[in-house]
Amino acid sequence: MKCARCKQEKESTKKRRTNTAYVDDTLNFVIECDECFVKTEEFWEQMWEENRYGSY
Ligand SMILES: [Zn+2]
Repeated sequence: MKCARCKQEKESTKKRRTNTAYVDDTLNFVIECDECFVKTEEFWEQMWEENRYGSY
């Protein structure tokens, strides 16, 4: 399967649920390989952190 982030054919690529909370549930899924998904999760972690600090 082809990863949406690195555009490479990788065995580990699959549909995964991300750490997002879109109303449209299809947007909460990405098709990525293991390596890219780690980065995606880190990105959202950071986004949530920033949002938390922003609310103070
Ligand atoms: Zn990838």
